[in-house]
Amino acid sequence: MESHAKDEPLTVILFGSAGSGKGTQGDFLLKALNLEKVEGGELVREKAKEGSELGRHVKEVHESGKYLPDEEILHLVEEKIISVPSYRGLLIDGYPRRVGQARQLEEMLRRLGRTNVKALVIEVQGEELKRRLLNRSVCVNGHILIGRNFTRCPIDGAAVEVRDYDTNEQAIMKRIQFYQEEVVPTIEYFRTKGWVVEVNGEQSVEEVRKEIFKKLSIT
Ligand SMILES: [Zn+2]
Repeated sequence: MESHAKDEPLTVILFGSAGSGKGTQGDFLLKALNLEKVEGGELVREKAKEGSELGRHVKEVHESGKYLPDEEILHLVEEKIISVPSYRGLLIDGYPRRVGQARQLEEMLRRLGRTNVKALVIEVQGEELKRRLLNRSVCVNGHILIGRNFTRCPIDGAAVEVRDYDTNEQAIMKRIQFYQEEVVPTIEYFRTKGWVVEVNGEQSVEEVRKEIFKKLSIT
């Protein structure tokens, strides 16, 4: 484990399967620590909107349903991190998704002098994830709602849709399987670096928040 200055801003790499509640918990961390969010999928979508050559390339790959090569995602993530003042901490979400990407990220963070890093894992077992995903709806603005009987989002009044990959048991199992096969080995890689902090995601939202704040020494 590397040592780091006590006042060095925290970099949190957030892990948790769909249905683990990680979006909600990530928002708590963003607010409490004034972190800058670095979201893998968002960086790709934003870059695809740019008129630059790289933007057009990213758009093409994204629209074809393929993944960007690791080197290109790394470039987008690095570009974003460099734009954040070094006194501000980071919340990295949706990246890395594979061990190779984890190695690249670790090397980059070290190079950029961000050595106060935690890989926060919100743990929820497969059966519970399945139960949660089969019982949720999502408004068009991304609010995740528990239950299936909404016509309007209680938060902003927007239309509510049930996403196919949340209704179809087979699709849900595929997402859980992807997490097990690709993301869990990524977490194990960070464990060898002494970065992993695990919390029990099968508690109330407030209890999960408390466990996270305690384990990250946030007061
Ligand atoms: Zn909403």
